[in-house]
Amino acid sequence: MKYYSTNKLSPEVDLRTAVTKGLAPDRGLYMPERITLLEPAFFDQLDSMTFQEMSFKVAHKFFGEDLPEGILRKIVYETLNFDTPLAEVEEDIYSLELFHGPTMAFKDVGARFMARILAYFLSEEKGMVHVLVATSGDTGSAVANGFLGIEGIRVHVLYPKGKVSEIQEMQFVALGQNITALEVDGSFDDCQALVKSAFMDQVLQQKMVLTSANSINVARFLPQAFYYFNAVAQLRTKIKDKKIVFSVPSGNFGNLTAGLIAKMMGLPVSRFIAANNSNDVVFKYLHSGLYQTRPSVVTIANAMDVGDPSNFARILDLYGADHAKICDVISGTTYTDEQIRESLAACYHATAYLLDPHGAVAYRALKELLQPDELGIFLETAHPAKFLETVEGIIGKGNVPMPDRLLEFMKGEKRTIEIGIEFEEFKRYLLSGSDQK
Ligand SMILES: *Cc1c(COP(=O)(O)O)cnc(C)c1O
Repeated sequence: MKYYSTNKLSPEVDLRTAVTKGLAPDRGLYMPERITLLEPAFFDQLDSMTFQEMSFKVAHKFFGEDLPEGILRKIVYETLNFDTPLAEVEEDIYSLELFHGPTMAFKDVGARFMARILAYFLSEEKGMVHVLVATSGDTGSAVANGFLGIEGIRVHVLYPKGKVSEIQEMQFVALGQNITALEVDGSFDDCQALVKSAFMDQVLQQKMVLTSANSINVARFLPQAFYYFNAVAQLRTKIKDKKIVFSVPSGNFGNLTAGLIAKMMGLPVSRFIAANNSNDVVFKYLHSGLYQTRPSVVTIANAMDVGDPSNFARILDLYGADHAKICDVISGTTYTDEQIRESLAACYHATAYLLDPHGAVAYRALKELLQPDELGIFLETAHPAKFLETVEGIIGKGNVPMPDRLLEFMKGEKRTIEIGIEFEEFKRYLLSGSDQK
């Protein structure tokens, strides 16, 4: 399978190149040249397959030509050694709980998959790959834990100082080994800009092998299609003649794009809701046809504080930048912090289901936009305890169960390197460690 750049100015590449480079030389994002329909037999067997086996069959459509079958199956099975259960929150509204992985957020899926794909390609050559990851919280922890201890890979996590919750931070600043955390005196967009500049820098390109582990990377974003299939499989008996709607709390839009791809592979989904916090550039695009990036604003759903969502380029590409076609499949919502708090509290008091602030955005979108002939599934993208202060501030202290796995992380010792937002400083840091093995 070949991968092309959404900017169409760079040559097509193979999977190995797409995964090890991350971003295309023309700054576009790589896309698979084909999105293939799954056979009717696959859908007939959906409820009798395990999550792992179903995901292997989906993965095979993308990666089957580039990896031996046994290796691909092993990678998928190792990635998904946890479940993503569906919980009924209220009539016709379901929560797909994506927080059962090691860092208790959905990004574990893509990060674990990508780490294994990269390790497979690297096992055939010597040398060191440097993974750069900008994070507003959950990406950093998922990538750092997904890649922890993997030989031949060094991970550099850039995060905005003071803008990440302590629990999120402790999941990547105290790991040591091949993981370094860089505390950037700026916003998430500044972190993302530093990473993008590094990929464009000729000197760095010559001296070191750099790749991204943001949802820019095809190996991180494509596996996110797996759990959409799993959600529909779990809901199978309840669907009857209703249409399925997914509500996706969106920041960089990797999750939502993976859902669109699942739909293109034949998954019976009628439409998607892009649920946003106050960072509303895509919401505005859906309503006006104009896409105008803005600096991100800080919200209580901080993993979605993105002012220039990278995967929007993929959405445009999938639909030939046709605004009407995009609006047929995706509708948008945007909520203030106040509205997010209100929905989290209302859901908790009415149903006893505890949302995290990101899930609350998507839940509210379903409450407002779900039609009588539809079943809604929202992605609950992280465990509420990851946003302890915020959630306790809404429903009261002592009401948020703290999983042991998160308590373990809190016992670590924070070690970071502080840098500013100037690219030259970041570059010096990278070059000083470029020969480090
Ligand atoms: C990353 C993240 C999101 C946003 O996902 P995108 O794929 O970037 O749109 C939503 N919720 C949580 C908890 C996240 O960590």
